[in-house]
Amino acid sequence: MNIHEYQAKQLLKEYGISVPEGGVAATPEEALQAAGSLGSGKYVVKAQAHTGGRGKAGGVKVAATPTEAAEFAKQMIGMTLVTHQTGPSGKIVRKVWIEKATDIARELYLAVVLDRTAQKLAVIVSPMGGMDIEAVAASNPELIFRTHVAPGQKLWPFQAQKLLCGCGLNAEQMKAGESIIRNLLRLAWEKEASLVEINPLAVTGAGDLIALDAKMNFDDSALPRQAAIAAMEDREQTDELELEAQKHGLNYVRLEGNVGTMVNGAGLAMATMDVIKMAGAEPANFMDVGGGASAERIAKGFEIILSDKNVNAILFNVFGGILRCDNLATGVVEAAKKVKRQVPMIIRLEGTNVAEGRAILEKSGLNFEMASSMKEAAEKIAKVAAAKG
Ligand code: ADP
Ligand code: MG
Repeated sequence: MNIHEYQAKQLLKEYGISVPEGGVAATPEEALQAAGSLGSGKYVVKAQAHTGGRGKAGGVKVAATPTEAAEFAKQMIGMTLVTHQTGPSGKIVRKVWIEKATDIARELYLAVVLDRTAQKLAVIVSPMGGMDIEAVAASNPELIFRTHVAPGQKLWPFQAQKLLCGCGLNAEQMKAGESIIRNLLRLAWEKEASLVEINPLAVTGAGDLIALDAKMNFDDSALPRQAAIAAMEDREQTDELELEAQKHGLNYVRLEGNVGTMVNGAGLAMATMDVIKMAGAEPANFMDVGGGASAERIAKGFEIILSDKNVNAILFNVFGGILRCDNLATGVVEAAKKVKRQVPMIIRLEGTNVAEGRAILEKSGLNFEMASSMKEAAEKIAKVAAAKG
């Protein structure tokens, strides 16, 4: 689960990390008041939407007066912010966060992220803050410093110093940086976050360190233990189709390609997405209908995939284990008949009663072609999707 910047900054504050003073506003009037109560100086008006890259997309603006801040708020509230992270559908903006403008000397990057492979938290620091860390990783990998911390363990001061020593900080700033890293680690650990990112962590003209942006992601499975975090959920920021899928127990993540995929089992779903990409096509979604998918669940899955207008072909890749292939085929045929919009489908079925399953599909008269291997299925779907444009 993601939270908004204003919520993430509240958490940073609770953990002793300094953030600019600010206030949240859902109307231009509230924005006027929020800016007014911050005193003199400039104000930064920031669209609250679950995405980064807002600055470049018009979601971060500097205002000289509270009146101008209110004007920016008026422009932003209600807008759909499209950034390089949101995809073309964008994210709706319902609130803005207004904070004091900081005199920035330099922008650093700091994050704590769960590294599942290492089974540890990774602390990542870079002197190249304020930009996409992925771009820095590509252009200047030598300017990204990282270290791992075992669950529940503290970072030794020398580890923090080593991380920060490429950031050009003086002794006092090093101390402040160390404390920020320690507190951020504590936050990530105690709140069960999979990512806490401060980008930029600004070095101000006066030499102080202050978090100007904050992005946090929490483990959904931890939310029953994390009531305060769970209460920060903003369901409006979640993709509509993803919400619909959640309701029906389908594991669905919308992506940007045009090949819809329906698979049983998360591992097989990942492998299916890989082969689709290897065949030169782009998956439109990840979907795991689960091991015991019923005909209704399959129908719902179809409906969700087809509601995505980008989808022009569907790859159905199912390994019938607990669920027999013949039952599954019956479900697919029923579902495909129920859903009005039709796109070509490639179906690969394997497992228990596969011959019966294939026979049912072949007799159904629906617009699908069978494939016997993953590779064949991927190649066929790539061809179909390309032909449909
Ligand atoms: P995003 O990462 O979504 O683009 P940020 O909050 O990082 O949004 O803002 C983008 C840029 O705007 C920052 O890198 C920083 O240069 C500037 N900025 C953000 N907040 C402030 C602030 N309070 N004072 C001065 N500049 C700011
Ligand atoms: Mg940022």
